[in-house]
Formats: sequence, structure tokens, C-alpha cells
Amino acid sequence: MPKLVNETAKAELGRAAWRVLHLMTLRYPENPTQSDRTALKTYFHLFSRLYPCGECAAEFQALLKQYPPQTSSRKSASLWLCHVHNQVNERLGKPEFDCLTLDATYDSGLQNKILGGKGGLRGGA
Ligand code: FAD
Repeated sequence: MPKLVNETAKAELGRAAWRVLHLMTLRYPENPTQSDRTALKTYFHLFSRLYPCGECAAEFQALLKQYPPQTSSRKSASLWLCHVHNQVNERLGKPEFDCLTLDATYDSGLQNKILGGKGGLRGGA
């Protein structure tokens, strides 16, 4: 595969993956059970092992060691992922994202506000 196509595919995969990950943390329970917490932590570790871009997976595994997944609430999980994504942005020379705009950026009518509001997996969203 030519380099440009490869890079394009990697970027498309990344955009899709980040969207899923951010929406997942934004809909994570506000008051998770121990089982929810284990599931989210396990998910990110398996994701980092199996992500279909070898270089990205290795870097992400190192990041998870440095910044272990925060699973105590929707807000902590969402802000943790925003921070980790910003670490990747920095390494790739991309601008820092303002994590206070998470709700506005990912607003999908799902009542998924992290700075207030109800919703999430068990909240009727
Ligand atoms: P993306 O970084 O894909 O972001 C998509 C959108 O998310 C942005 O337009 C913005 O609206 C929003 N956003 C940006 N930052 C944040 C944030 N901090 N929090 C919430 N929302 C945000 N590519 C490589 O070349 N090398 C790598 O090592 C690499 N590692 C990756 C690791 C992972 C786990 C993932 C999911 C992707 C990785 N990528 C890597 C892909 C890379 O991060 C980008 O997805 C890709 O370069 C496309 O970038 P983009 O500028 O379109 O925006």
C-alpha cells in the first residue's frame, strides 16, 4: 500500500476510533458498579492490544501505563480519555483540544452531559 493511502487509512481509522471511545466514556454510568469499572478498564487494555495500527497500539499501551484508565465516574473517564487523546495530539504535532468543550463537541442528543444532566447506559439516554 502506498504511503499516502496508508497514512489516509490510519487517519480515518483514528478518527472513527476516537469517536467511538469518546462517546463510550461520555455515556459511561455516572455511578458505575465495580463490574462497569472493570469492564471499562479491560476494554481499553484489550483495545490497545488489538488496535489495527501497530505503531499506534504500541504507543497507546505505553500511554495506558503512564495514565491508567480512570473509571470512577463518567466525568473522570471522559476527562481522562480527553487527556490521553491530547497526549497523542501532542506527539503528532496537533493542537491541544479543550476538554471543557467535550459536551458541545460530542453532543448527540443523548443527554450525555458530563458537566451536568442525566443519561448514560442506565440513565435513560
Ligand atoms: P483526531 O485526533 O482523529 O480527532 C478527531 C476529532 O476529535 C477532532 O477533529 C476533534 O473534534 C476531536 N478531538 C481532538 N482531540 C480531542 C481530545 N483530546 N478529546 C476529545 N476530542 C478530541 N496516528 C499516528 O499517525 N500515529 C500514532 O501513533 C497514532 N496513535 C493513535 C492511537 C489511538 C488510540 C488512536 C485512536 C489513534 C491514533 N492515531 C495515530 C490516529 C490519530 O490520533 C488521529 O486520529 C489521526 O491522525 C486523524 O487526526 P485528526 O486531526 O483528524 O483528529
